This record gives sequence, C-alpha cells and structure tokens, in this order.
Amino acid sequence: MRVVVDLTRCQGYGQCAFAAPDVFRMARTEALMYELNPDDREREQVLRAVAACPVQAMVIDEMGTLGRPEKADAAGPGMPDRVGRIVIVGASLAGLRAAATLRKEGYQGSLTLIGDESCEPYDRPPLSKQVLNGQVLAAQTMLPRRGELDAGWLLGTPATGLDLAGKQVLLADGRHVGFDRLLIATGVRARPWPNAAEGALDGVFVLRSREDASLLRQRLGDGVNRVLVIGAGFTGSEIASACRDLGLAVTVAERGPAPLVGALGGVIGSIAGEIQREHGVDLRCGVTVTALEGDGDGRLRRAQLSDGSAVDAEVAVVTLGAERNVEWLEGSGLAAGVWGVGCDAGCRAFDVNGIVCDDIFVAGDVARFPHPVYGYQFLTLEHWGNAVTQAQVAAHNMISAPTGRWPHLSLPVFWSAQFGVNIKSVGVPTFADEVVITQGSVADRRFVAAYGYRGRVTAAVTFDQAMWLEFYQDLIEKAAPFPPAFDMVGRPNGVRPVPARIPERVNAIHDATVVVTGHNPDERRATLVTGHE
Ligand SMILES: Cc1cc2nc3c(=O)[nH]c(=O)nc-3n(C[C@H](O)[C@H](O)[C@H](O)COP(=O)(O)OP(=O)(O)OC[C@H]3O[C@@H](n4cnc5c(N)ncnc54)[C@H](O)[C@@H]3O)c2cc1C
Ligand code: SF4
Repeated sequence: MRVVVDLTRCQGYGQCAFAAPDVFRMARTEALMYELNPDDREREQVLRAVAACPVQAMVIDEMGTLGRPEKADAAGPGMPDRVGRIVIVGASLAGLRAAATLRKEGYQGSLTLIGDESCEPYDRPPLSKQVLNGQVLAAQTMLPRRGELDAGWLLGTPATGLDLAGKQVLLADGRHVGFDRLLIATGVRARPWPNAAEGALDGVFVLRSREDASLLRQRLGDGVNRVLVIGAGFTGSEIASACRDLGLAVTVAERGPAPLVGALGGVIGSIAGEIQREHGVDLRCGVTVTALEGDGDGRLRRAQLSDGSAVDAEVAVVTLGAERNVEWLEGSGLAAGVWGVGCDAGCRAFDVNGIVCDDIFVAGDVARFPHPVYGYQFLTLEHWGNAVTQAQVAAHNMISAPTGRWPHLSLPVFWSAQFGVNIKSVGVPTFADEVVITQGSVADRRFVAAYGYRGRVTAAVTFDQAMWLEFYQDLIEKAAPFPPAFDMVGRPNGVRPVPARIPERVNAIHDATVVVTGHNPDERRATLVTGHE
C-alpha cells in the first residue's frame, strides 16, 4: 500500500508512531520519517495511524474509480464547463492533484496527462531524507493512488511545443495532442554545475528525480570518505544531514553568510548553521567553489574554494537551486521564461502582453503568481503544499464559470527535516525587515520566530514547534501588528525584534528582455527576446 503524509498539516504529535511504529518514526522530537510503501501486512497498523492522526494529514490509496460522472452538468452561459478535452503537461504532484480534482468535481470530458518521466508520479521530499539515509528505496516513493483515475497517460513523452492558436501540444515523438483547456505543471529541474566538463566528472551529482536519488544513495554506500555539498539551501542542508546520519564526513560550501539564508534570513540561518556544526558538518560560509578537479580516470577528487582552500572529496552534490521547465513554451506567446510561467491569482496564464488566457492554466513549481498578502508581489514557490493547493484551485477554475472561480490565496507553507529538527515556515520570511523569537528557546533548538514587515506579521518559522504554525498563519492573514503584542505560552523574557538580515533580492527577471513596439493602443505589443545577455 502507499502512504504520503501531508507534512504541511502534520503537527508532529507522534500518534502515528505509536499506532504503527514499524511504518512511522519520530527522528528526535518532531521530525516524522515514514515508509511510503509499507508492506500489506502493515495495513491494519497504518489504518489505525490514519484514524489516530488528529489533523488528518495522511493520504493512502483510495479504492474505487475516479471516473467520469454519468451525466455532465449542462454547459452553457454561466454554467460550469464540464465537457471537452483537458490536457495536463507535467505528470507529477501538481498534475496528478489537478487531475484528481477535475474528476472529483465532476469533469466529464477527456483528460490526458503528458509527462517526460516514464514512471508513475512519485513524491520528491523523501528523496533528500528517507531515501538518502536508507530508510526507503527510491522506487518506493510513488504517490498514493486516489482511486483509479479515468485519464489517458502519455508517460516518457516530453512536450516540445505549444500551438496556442491551434490549441495543440506538440510532443517529442512528433504527435500533436489537441485540447480545449490546458494545465501547465512542468515544475523545475536542478540547476547543473556551471562548468559542463567538471559537472560530468564521476562523483558529481544533482538531486531532483528518483533516479538522481537512487544513484546518489548508491554512491554514498560505496565507501566514500568525504562528501562536498555545494549550496546550503534546504536541499543541500538535508543532504548534509542524511550524510551525517550515515556517518560520512561532510563539507558544506555556501556563498551566503549562513545556511538557509536565502529562505529564512541571516538571524535564523545562523542558528541553522550552529546546528549543522553541532552535528559535525564542516560548514564553510562566505565561500564559493571555484573548480572541481578529477583524477586521470575522470573521477572527482578535489574542489577549489574561493578562499584559496581545497577540499578533497569523492562526491560533490550540486544544490544551487532550480531552473524552471519552460523551454517547451518558447515561441508559444505565453509569458514564460526563467521566472516561470506568469499567471493571475486564478491560475490563468498570462500571454506575453500580460493579458490572461482563459483556457491556459498554471500550477506548481513552474507558476509565478501574485499574492495579495505580499503587496501583490509575484511569487514562485518550490513548496509541496503550494503545488497541491494551486493545482486544486487551477482544476476547479478550469471547469467553473467565471463567477464561480477561486483565487489561490493560501499562504505558503514549507517544511524541512534536517539534523533531527522539524523546521516549518508559514508566510514569506523574506518579506520582512525584522524577526523576533516569540516562543521557546533557541538554546534548546525548539522555538518560534515571527517575522514582520513595517509593523505587521508576515511570516513565522518554527523549529520543533509545528503546533503553533496555524496560530501564526491566522496572525498573518489578519495582518496582526508586529511584534505580536500579547502574551504567549513559553514567551522568552527580554527578547526584542532584530533586523531579519534578509539578503538583497535576487531578481528572477534580471535576464528577461521584453521589447515593446507600436504607437497606438491597438497596435502596442510586447515581444520576449530570449537568449539576451
Ligand atoms: C529532493 C527534494 C526535496 C524536497 N523537499 C521538500 C520539503 O521538504 N518540503 C516541501 O514543501 N517541498 C519539498 N520539495 C519540493 C516539492 O517536491 C515540489 O514543490 C513539488 O514536487 C512540485 O510539484 P510540481 O508537480 O509542481 O513539479 P515537479 O514535481 O517538478 O513535476 C513536474 C513534472 O513535469 C515534468 N516535465 C517537465 N518538463 C516537461 C515537458 N516538457 N513535457 C512533459 N513533462 C515535463 C517533470 O519531469 C516532472 O515530472 C522537495 C523537492 C525535492 C526535489
Ligand atoms: S500529526 Fe498526524 S502525521 Fe503528524 S505525527 Fe501526528 S499523527 Fe503523525
């Protein structure tokens, strides 16, 4: 059977670990690790755990068929449009959730999922956690089946183009797939090491796919002396943590002043740095890796750093962020580029002029959408929870009349498990000028930090205090004053807000060039210039 825990909801109470100790395990206090594909003999235990979970965070295989309803609602002016052809490009978390939502909401027409990976959709978060530390095999990370989905699957089939006017997706094998409505859910890929020859050395890895995880896991078990992790974002830090679990020596090289600084700012990042060092990581901040060197047989041996030092390592994992999978949309007329695919809060894609397309929708890591709570700023998120909720909103809107459409207003929620600590965040921590520890103790590595921007709460981060997240979510949604003025359980004495030390924004659109031509309003048009330096 298959299990996935929605760790954005999980509050780390651990009842599941009591009900099914062979399947669920708490690493230290709150970080939940679990089998995604437990043996059928453990089914009874898992069902008990599902029932015990107070926040209903678990999803398991569902029986029955998620098929077409017998009769379509009448489509017409003002009525939901539940027939026709819907195509989803990107058959992973967002694509699968959207497909299931379409059927659950009564979509009756044809449904096709196009994916370039040849396997069924799987869950990525365990790849840098349970898979690397050997608890779960990469092949056992498939997402639960939510009923037998009545859909056509074109797997192992990359989409290579989009004909917007002709309403067709072009496939690498030369086929064309026609649609009435399209969902773009092509996600991101790992940014490769910038020097291709160095990146091709045996021992240099990235981590995005199941195959990446399987190869890296295999290599980590091959008697490696030292692993070098390049970049200390969430993925890099989790890899370092898994390596320490395996007893391997790890060096982490980070350009910024601390790990996680790009996501959480310098104050909380430096606490994450202390935790890494306490766990034996050789953490080097404020340095970049300038070169990777191999031996005569093309195997990685050493890395040179910008401070003049060198690190001997047989494995280097490049975790330098992600690139959005948008190349197949080049020339389509959509606002798609290095920043993702621009869309409105109802998930409808923008064309290159910034006008919404009624029939093209976007969801998941590839989407760039405005969030009212953050000054309508456009966000791109690589968060599991966002992929799920945005896919559900997009699917709903695809089959709803304009008046029945929903805005995608969920606050971003993220979790990470590293060095036995469950780190969670709600809101946008980088949309802040100050941060304050509101509850718990930094020394105990169990605390809540609230972030504020110009006198209102904009985000919160918890270290092993997940149960408070909902409370802070409420404060953010109410634009509650910052610093929070009322007494809270476990409030430490004498702490004051301090500058959050958010790094200067790296602007995702710095290499996008748009040329505007024409003089009269009826002839003014934007054109994307690609490959511009
Ligand atoms: C190692 C790792 C650990 C993570 N840990 C966490 C975590 O702890 N917490 C958290 O909140 N999030 C985590 N995430 C992020 C989370 O997994 C993503 O946010 C989520 O997978 C996004 O889903 P998606 O469907 O939008 O994109 P993806 O999962 O990237 O899926 C996109 C799919 O589209 C396919 N595709 C791309 N181009 C084409 C094309 N031209 N034609 C057809 N198919 C195409 C891709 O191959 C892929 O299968 C982690 C991610 C990784 C990689
Ligand atoms: S909240 Fe649910 S999934 Fe999370 S630890 Fe508790 S019982 Fe397990």
